Amino acid sequence: MKTAIAERIEDKLYQNRYLVDPGRPHIKVRPHQSPSPNLLALTRVCPANCYELNESGQVEITPDGCMECGTCRVLCEASGYIEWNYPRGGFGILFKFG
Ligand code: SF4
Repeated sequence: MKTAIAERIEDKLYQNRYLVDPGRPHIKVRPHQSPSPNLLALTRVCPANCYELNESGQVEITPDGCMECGTCRVLCEASGYIEWNYPRGGFGILFKFG
């Protein structure tokens, strides 16, 4: 009888690979003085921790590890707080399943 070995989600995510498009971030945060509640929420809800507060209290993004889940797009794109696009073909995340 085979024994199933549980794998942690962090270990599965580690299998993913990213091809960064230098100088062409696919997500941008609109310049702001202080973040709206939704923009601020991105520092807590992004599963890849792409958003963080800088020393001035503004939200910044480093989209290199983005999983393209769309959470930030749903929360902030319509209001114009962020500009969201898919990476160019061949760039971005490469999912590895199994
Ligand atoms: S699409 Fe998902 S993973 Fe990428 S920056 Fe937005 S919330 Fe984070």
